[in-house]
Amino acid sequence: MTANIIDGKAFALGLRERIATQVATFREATGRVPGLAVVLVGEDPASAVYVRNKHKATVAAGMASFEHKLSAHTSQADLLALVDQLNADPAVDGILVQLPLPGHIDERAVITRIDPDKDVDGFHPVNAGRLATGLEGFVPCTPLGCLMLLKDQLGDLAGLDAVVIGRSNIVGKPMAQLLVKESCTVTVAHSKTRDLSSVVKRADIVVAAVGRPEMVKGEWIKPGACVIDVGINREPAQPGGSNGRLVGDVDFAGALSVAGAITPVPGGVGPMTIAVLLRNTMISAHRREDVSYDKDAW
Ligand code: NAD
Repeated sequence: MTANIIDGKAFALGLRERIATQVATFREATGRVPGLAVVLVGEDPASAVYVRNKHKATVAAGMASFEHKLSAHTSQADLLALVDQLNADPAVDGILVQLPLPGHIDERAVITRIDPDKDVDGFHPVNAGRLATGLEGFVPCTPLGCLMLLKDQLGDLAGLDAVVIGRSNIVGKPMAQLLVKESCTVTVAHSKTRDLSSVVKRADIVVAAVGRPEMVKGEWIKPGACVIDVGINREPAQPGGSNGRLVGDVDFAGALSVAGAITPVPGGVGPMTIAVLLRNTMISAHRREDVSYDKDAW
């Protein structure tokens, strides 16, 4: 068997096109466009790249992008004051504070200061609670993107055995909640899990969100399983100075001959994150203007 390679890039592109169409409809109905504010504190190069990509994607979808680049020495009080200002700004539908923040700033204090109804990253405890209790809220972008790929691949997920490897607040835990909501039987594995290979072996769905290059081996995978690889790991630089290649948490070559379907790295889950961020911002704008929307359409 050779697994179907799930093209997250193409799926994300389609989603972004549907969002752009909806932006035009929203603009006609309300006379304004949805707005996303992104706050970057400091000069972390990876964060700067993400923020640039988010800005480009937001503008390409026809939305307003408000960028706030602050020095690494910005005080927590000043950052919280900016969040308050964005919470109160009617042109801003979504607020994203790029993580990680410099060490002198308490990330939790910043995340909890964002208005939960503008928290398009879905990291606020109110949104985590809404997800856990089945209320409408914002779901973190990466796990929601994974769910979209799974449903596109498998259709109805009810009754399937799913293993989520990783229990972070931004990927593992919300992923598990989403799969429970889809009526999967869910196991959450983590750094203290015993005999991970046999836990993975039982699963029809494997979501790997660990941050360890190629940790999940092909022989752990149940034949025909659907494998979603969230991990993004850069291998060491080559002797010639060129960047090392990007690899996921799954041994892609090994899994390819066993799995039914698998996301590649890059080009699998990665492109979904920004597309879902735009979707969440779009939904926020509709809710705030009391315009009806079909959340399943985008
Ligand atoms: P994290 O470091 O917060 O969490 C990692 C989790 O892995 C922890 O819950 C830990 O218990 C578990 N873990 C560690 N070692 C393990 C082991 N040996 N066996 C089983 N579980 C183990 O990481 P995160 O923020 O959830 O991100 C995970 C990975 O996903 C990273 O590679 C990150 O770069 C990537 N990521 C990708 C996207 C994307 O857009 N594609 C978004 C977020 C994160």
